[in-house]
Amino acid sequence: MKTYHELLKKLMIFRQERNWEKFHKPKDLAMAAAIEAAELMQEFLWQTEEEVKQKIKTDKERFADEIADTAVYLMLLADDLGIDFYNAIENKMKKNALKYPVEKCKGKATKYTDL
Ligand SMILES: [Mg+2]
Repeated sequence: MKTYHELLKKLMIFRQERNWEKFHKPKDLAMAAAIEAAELMQEFLWQTEEEVKQKIKTDKERFADEIADTAVYLMLLADDLGIDFYNAIENKMKKNALKYPVEKCKGKATKYTDL
């Protein structure tokens, strides 16, 4: 299994070889991540719950591709901004744990402001 930093290095080499850094402005990377997330949502659009279950079984690679596309742009954006992707997630999880204490939110989908 590759580590995050090995994967990031591969992405950087892929981008450098194609001279694509010039296109990867923060706003464009943020937009690209949102667009790829929308492509992921498109896989679910107008599907019933049953159709979604079936599609996940038969077309898992399509979901994997869109998840990967989204994650790649987020990894590039984070690195370009000098943000450690792992630390950012860990820090946000700590904030979320404070916002959503287990005893207040277990089994609820309520936003923290309404707990
Ligand atoms: Mg895509």
